Amino acid sequence: MIRRPLELFACSLTGGVLALVYGDAAWEGVAGTLAGSALWITLDNVRAARVLNWLRHGHAVNPPRVSTVWAEVVERSRKGFKALNRKARKSEARLQEFLAAIQASPNGVVLLDKTSAIEWCNFTSAQHLGFDSKRDVRQQIRNLIRDPAFIAYLNAGDFSKPVEIDGRDAYPGHPQRISIQIHVYGKGRRLLLTRDVTAVEQAEAMRRDFVANVSHEIRTPLTVVSGFIETLQHLDVSDEERRRYLALMGQQAQRMQTLVSDLLTLSRLEGSPIPGSSEWVSSQDLLSQVVDEARALSDVLAQGSHDLVAEPSPLFQIAGARSELVSAMSNLLSNAVRYTPAHGQIRAGWALLADGSVEFHVQDTGPGIEAEHLPRLTERFYRVDRSRSRETGGTGLGLAIVKHVAQRHGGHMLVDSVVGQGSRFRIVLPPSRVLSD
Ligand code: ADP
Repeated sequence: MIRRPLELFACSLTGGVLALVYGDAAWEGVAGTLAGSALWITLDNVRAARVLNWLRHGHAVNPPRVSTVWAEVVERSRKGFKALNRKARKSEARLQEFLAAIQASPNGVVLLDKTSAIEWCNFTSAQHLGFDSKRDVRQQIRNLIRDPAFIAYLNAGDFSKPVEIDGRDAYPGHPQRISIQIHVYGKGRRLLLTRDVTAVEQAEAMRRDFVANVSHEIRTPLTVVSGFIETLQHLDVSDEERRRYLALMGQQAQRMQTLVSDLLTLSRLEGSPIPGSSEWVSSQDLLSQVVDEARALSDVLAQGSHDLVAEPSPLFQIAGARSELVSAMSNLLSNAVRYTPAHGQIRAGWALLADGSVEFHVQDTGPGIEAEHLPRLTERFYRVDRSRSRETGGTGLGLAIVKHVAQRHGGHMLVDSVVGQGSRFRIVLPPSRVLSD
């Protein structure tokens, strides 16, 4: 700090001495001193201006070379700038990490300012709502999401519950439902979260349909049974009639029992682990068991008039759950027996396929199924011939069980059918589950 007054003093003194050496009068000495001071002040101002100019640009590089106290000002500022820059870089890196985490979120995130203009949004929200995460920044959200339900939600200002709208990818036959909820934070800012709830909605719709279907299936036999009970309680009926009523009640009870048993099979299939390769089942055993069962059913339904044949089949072992395989195969055979009129032909057997996989097939000469129904046959409770299905004790769950069992064994179910000629159902199992005898 002492350098500045010393410099000023030295300049003034030099000015004064030079004036006295070259001049004659005393006033010239005073003028020389003043001129020396003025020169120093000018020099100092130039240094101050250089420092200020450097400070104005606000960065730590290329500091001006200045002397006296200005050198210290520059050095301290330089260090301050460096520390600030380091801090800013750290904050920037953390912000970027934070934004990357929000980008990775499966939910959409949009930050809105007080006027509901977009400040920032992640890709997921842009995908859900159909806007561009870069181009649409600063746009009013209400100009981008025109759905009346959302506009009403925004205007009402009650954000305690979410609102649902169609997503960008929704079109007839391909629903996409997006749930949007706004949360207010800071000084009037808003956080808008989006979530794809299509799968949840579909699962909920399936659950509703399923409950409705089961209730419907059970209501009819229950109504019949309770009607007969009331009749037997309040009316005098002959022994003959009583026997007939009891037989009909027994049939309906059986129908409910079959339904419950199929439902339990399905729920077991859904809830249990995939069958491993520790249990090996003989193809021949399976075939004879299901064909015997089908013959018994044919005896009941068509007095055994079906021409039911187990075709000569290759012998091999299958890795899988015996009870599941029996259930799937006998479902196909019992369908063939139930839907093929008396004296029709039914053929069942195994075949080895070229790629090492195997197929179990059931061919009948029944009524056949129109092509439009084929893709829906494995839906639960889907029936082509409702009355025939019910009359013969069908639950509408048989092919759903077959498909499930095939898939659990790494295979699939195929159907070929020609109306008026018959149907061929196949279960194909992969080579990994087959061991030739
Ligand atoms: P269901 O218990 O009603 O037989 P499934 O799931 O086993 O239920 O079959 C679904 C529908 O497919 C049946 O209702 C029937 O209309 C049709 N179907 C199944 N197998 C045959 C077949 N072999 N011949 C003709 N129609 C069939």
